[in-house]
Amino acid sequence: MVRYGIIVSMLMAVLCCITACQQGPNSYLRTPRAVRFQPVRSPLVVRTVTKLAREVNIKVRIVPPNARSRRGSKPLNPRFITIHSTANHSPTSTAMQHSRALCNGAIRDRSWHFTVDQFMCVQNLPLTESAWHAGTPAGNYNSIGIEMCECENRGSNHFRTWDRTAKLTALLMRRYGINLRRVVPHYHWTRKNCPAPLLTNGRPGPKWAWFHSRIDYYYRCINQGQSFR
Ligand SMILES: [Zn+2]
Repeated sequence: MVRYGIIVSMLMAVLCCITACQQGPNSYLRTPRAVRFQPVRSPLVVRTVTKLAREVNIKVRIVPPNARSRRGSKPLNPRFITIHSTANHSPTSTAMQHSRALCNGAIRDRSWHFTVDQFMCVQNLPLTESAWHAGTPAGNYNSIGIEMCECENRGSNHFRTWDRTAKLTALLMRRYGINLRRVVPHYHWTRKNCPAPLLTNGRPGPKWAWFHSRIDYYYRCINQGQSFR
C-alpha cells in the first residue's frame, strides 16, 4: 500500500513538471514578477536617443483636428510632464483601444498626448497643442500628458508599462529641456489620486520615488551619465 502511494506521488510530480513545461517560453507573462520599488542601481546601458525611442515603440495616431476633444485647444508650452494612469481595468483597454476612443469621439471631454501600455506607446496629439488632462489651466497649457494603461488580462504586466513610460519621459525631458522635478503626477495639479498605482496612500511616496529613479536612469543612459534634476 505504501509502495502504491509512493508510485502515485511520483506520477503526480512528473505530471506537474510536464504541465509546467508546456506553458512555453512566454509563461513568465502569466506570473509577472513582484515589483519591489527599489531605486535603480544597475550599471548604465548607454544608448542613443534613436535606440531608446525604438524601445519605446511609438506609434503616431493623431486625433482628427475636428474632434471635440481638440476644439478650442491652446498652444502647448511644454515645461512639465504630467503622468496619469487610466484606472480602467477592462482587459481590452490597451493603448490602441484608448487611441481609437479618442479618434472616434467615444472620449470627447478629455485628451492627452501619449497613451502607454506594455507593448507600445501611441501619440494622440501634436506636441505643439495643449490637452485636457490635468484639471487646471496651468497643468493643461504647460504640461505634456501621458496616460498609462491598467488593462487586466492574462498577459498583463504593469511593470512593463511603467518602464516604457519612464523611457518615453526621459526622451521628452531631453527633447524639451524639462528637468526631473517637473515630471509630476496628476496629483501635483489637483491632489487627485492619480496615477494611483504609483502613489502611496494617494500621495507621492516611495513608489513615485522609484518611478523617478527609473526615469533618471534612462535619462543618464542617453546623456553620458548626467542627470537633470
Ligand atoms: Zn490623471
